[in-house]
Amino acid sequence: MTQAKEPSFRDSVDLMFNRAVALMDLPPGLEEKIRVCNATYTVRFGVRLRGQIHTFTGYRSVHSEHMEPVKGGIRYSLAVNQDEVEALAALMTYKCALVEAPFGGSKGGLCIDPRDWDEHELERITRRFAYELAKRDLINPSQNVPAPDMGTGEREMAWIADQYRRMNTTDINSRACVTGKPVNAGGIQGRTEATGRGVQYALQEYFRHGEDIKAAGLSGTLDGKRVIVQGLGNVGYHAAKFLSEEDGCKITAIIERDGGLLDENGLDVEDVHNWIVKHGGVDGYPSGRFIREGAKYLEHDCDILIPAALEGVINLSNAERIKAPLIIEAANGPVTAGADEVLREKGIVIIPDMYANAGGVTVSYFEWVKNLSHIRFGRMGRRQEEARHQLIVDELEALSADKELGWTLSPSFKKRYLRGAGELELVRSGLDDTMRAAYGSMREVWHARGDVKDLRTAAYLVAIGKVATSYRALGL
Ligand code: NAD
Repeated sequence: MTQAKEPSFRDSVDLMFNRAVALMDLPPGLEEKIRVCNATYTVRFGVRLRGQIHTFTGYRSVHSEHMEPVKGGIRYSLAVNQDEVEALAALMTYKCALVEAPFGGSKGGLCIDPRDWDEHELERITRRFAYELAKRDLINPSQNVPAPDMGTGEREMAWIADQYRRMNTTDINSRACVTGKPVNAGGIQGRTEATGRGVQYALQEYFRHGEDIKAAGLSGTLDGKRVIVQGLGNVGYHAAKFLSEEDGCKITAIIERDGGLLDENGLDVEDVHNWIVKHGGVDGYPSGRFIREGAKYLEHDCDILIPAALEGVINLSNAERIKAPLIIEAANGPVTAGADEVLREKGIVIIPDMYANAGGVTVSYFEWVKNLSHIRFGRMGRRQEEARHQLIVDELEALSADKELGWTLSPSFKKRYLRGAGELELVRSGLDDTMRAAYGSMREVWHARGDVKDLRTAAYLVAIGKVATSYRALGL
């Protein structure tokens, strides 16, 4: 996907890092210590399937252990390689620092197309991969905690958690060895939607700041904004769904691996998603204009572009033709370092990946805390909160009846006010708070420093500053 004259994904991340570090005053040597990837483990293992042994190659890369455990997803894709895993691990370090999730950065990958294997075979492959990583502490509740990424989801995380538990039968915290598990297997409400939900919260926060809206040449609110989404998988589907159903955005194009759909009146996200689940792609969908070369729609006129599939899709071959004034990087690394420069010169505002898709790791953090505390969020306080609200409602109703003030509490207010927060409400509230706070820290640097012209550099400055502080505290 990336042009030959462009640097690799790993080099692209380093170039962006270097651009930010040049504006900082770090002690000699510390800059390199933060930038380099500490270790990458490569494993090749065989699994007997369909009457013969198949050999698979997997990676787990640890970028920075300034905080432990280190954290980062496991990706299943034929494109997985060491360079990609290391780039993604580095992004995890910066992402966790930016949103103040107390983790170092890591990432894993397995070179496999999950669609080539049936469920039973995938389970055997996943358990074997998990075994190889766990026996080297590359899966471990206190050292290295994976999560879902491209090509993996709840199902794979449940297999990994169970494999770890079988290998560590007396570890009371074994469930905390991985996040993104199904709720009935130690997961948390709201994890599956978390990354897409975080993209929505990030955009909502962006649109609270008139100055920032203007910087992209936009105006007004999210309502009615035309949005193009690439990749209707976990992240893209949830982001598109929430933005269209709750914020009034119009999803004017959806780009999938087999092509793209365009409808200026807005596509029905739920319907397109159901079609993809049933037919494996968008081809044949009864409405919208289909083109085989879907990536062309990245260049179509819109207000907000959400690349939510894979890295390197906006590169030197198409950057010049991108028309969206605002890009939010739901995927990791969708804009190459070269394209980033072109887009900045065009005045396009980019909400960077390390912030935009941090919803996943944020809710993973909540899940890990839940697993370690062995109690569901909201269990202790919910009824107490409801009882206190009931007291106020009773008092107000008594007042309105006695003094005949002519007002009553509406049934819908009472229903909403009397309901105490359960786990899902608390998770969403914690995620919203995290996305607002992290945006505030980036925004402050973006506007306060004359030498910082974009949100990505601002994000790196904040993140690197926090990692540097941790290293200094460690005495390094
Ligand atoms: P996913 O596998 O659920 O979805 C990816 C989607 O992209 C699929 O629908 C796939 O068909 C589509 N796709 C693949 N190649 C494409 C192409 N060339 N053109 C258009 N569409 C294509 O993966 P996901 O978990 O949604 O991850 C997407 C991105 O978000 C990745 O970059 C990942 O690293 C990042 N991310 C994911 C999470 C998470 O919690 N899942 C968290 C942070 C970042």
